[in-house]
Amino acid sequence: MPVNILNLSGLRVLDFKEIEREYHIKAEPVSVARLCPHCGRSQEVIGHGKLPLYVRDLPTHGKQVMIHLDAPRLMCKPCGRTFTATIPEVDEKRQMTERLVHWIGRQSLNYTFATVAEQVGIDEKTVRNVFDEYATQLKAQHKRDTPRWMGMDEIYLGRARGVITNIEDHTLVDMLPDRKKETIIQFLSGLEHRDRITHVAIDMWRPYREAIQEALPESIVVVDKYHVIRMGNESLERVRRSLNDSLPGKVRIGLKHDRKLLTMREHELNDQLHLIVSGWLRSFPLLEAAYKLKEEYFKVYDAANREEALERYTAWEKSIPPELSHAFKPIPVAWRSWRPYILNHFDDARLTNAFTESMNAKIRKMYRDGHGYSFEALRAKVLFSDQLQKRARVQEKVKVKRKRFDEVSDGIMYMSFGRMPAYAQEYDIKTVTKEINLGTDIPTLLRLIDEGQI
Ligand SMILES: [Zn+2]
Repeated sequence: MPVNILNLSGLRVLDFKEIEREYHIKAEPVSVARLCPHCGRSQEVIGHGKLPLYVRDLPTHGKQVMIHLDAPRLMCKPCGRTFTATIPEVDEKRQMTERLVHWIGRQSLNYTFATVAEQVGIDEKTVRNVFDEYATQLKAQHKRDTPRWMGMDEIYLGRARGVITNIEDHTLVDMLPDRKKETIIQFLSGLEHRDRITHVAIDMWRPYREAIQEALPESIVVVDKYHVIRMGNESLERVRRSLNDSLPGKVRIGLKHDRKLLTMREHELNDQLHLIVSGWLRSFPLLEAAYKLKEEYFKVYDAANREEALERYTAWEKSIPPELSHAFKPIPVAWRSWRPYILNHFDDARLTNAFTESMNAKIRKMYRDGHGYSFEALRAKVLFSDQLQKRARVQEKVKVKRKRFDEVSDGIMYMSFGRMPAYAQEYDIKTVTKEINLGTDIPTLLRLIDEGQI
């Protein structure tokens, strides 16, 4: 008899059969819990038939495993009601071993639900349900080191969600279900040592700013350069599209095809690309004016300090010709509401969250290609997979209270001669090494998404 094939102490193997893609194992429980779930007071029970169970277990040697066993049905003498005995290590609700339930949770972090379902021999929906429970547990244990420079951005997954990053270490710290002020305050308030955060780079989303000012009053809000600059290209695009109606189809398509070249910085173009761009600009004076305006706008960010940046911007705004004022309008509007925060960029820390843009694009694709991920599942996958964690060892100085005289004396009471020993309230400074988790390493995340491993 194959005694130990299951390696589960609660089940005794009676028989074992191997068919093409499956192992079938007949087993019986070594012991069962006989306490009546109805009245909870009696172990005085008698047998009342059997309930055949088909329980899935961990795949073995690449084959699915099915355990057949009979769960005793019992009748409680005092209350007269019947129940199925509880079998250790079996999740009866799911008809799976408990270890399989854990395994599915862990596997689902690193593989698609479809892959896990296929390995175990169950449907994807069940995998998703098991995973949702597992993710809830992980969420409760989730702990990240609080960054000094935090980034806040948005990602659109069904609706706008918040993306929180560590700008110094290029990691993903969290994803929030939405971008409401209360959600952000709640998140910030839950951070350990949140006073460590000196700067927060955000897009121009008012609830971010208000939440930070409320929950992190000491930190400096910086509008991310990326979002300010991008408006230059968006305005140029509006001008290009406004030409569409007056253009023959072929020209329109050609211009659309080359739109990315127009949004590149002029100095980044090689000779060949420069020729293409200048060709378009010569044909359309309005486009040429918009292009030059865009190039000048970008130069605001070449300023050496905030005063110079403001000067450059003010001069630029004055130079907008009337025929382009509509297309470029969002820029003055944004600068009016966000000016001090935009200019904070030019002080000490020129932080940008731009590195998250490629990540956002890839996560959106993962969500769209739909392995049926809910937002919570996707969040858990990108945040909790062990292989994605970026860890660091840091030296930390801690104050250790020096032992008092009478504590040092090991039970023997010394006379204190009328006063406490001089060092009674002193501290020693000790250096300890501890490991911290900086969050999801974004380069690794991007690689695994590309390789289809997540
Ligand atoms: Zn009972």
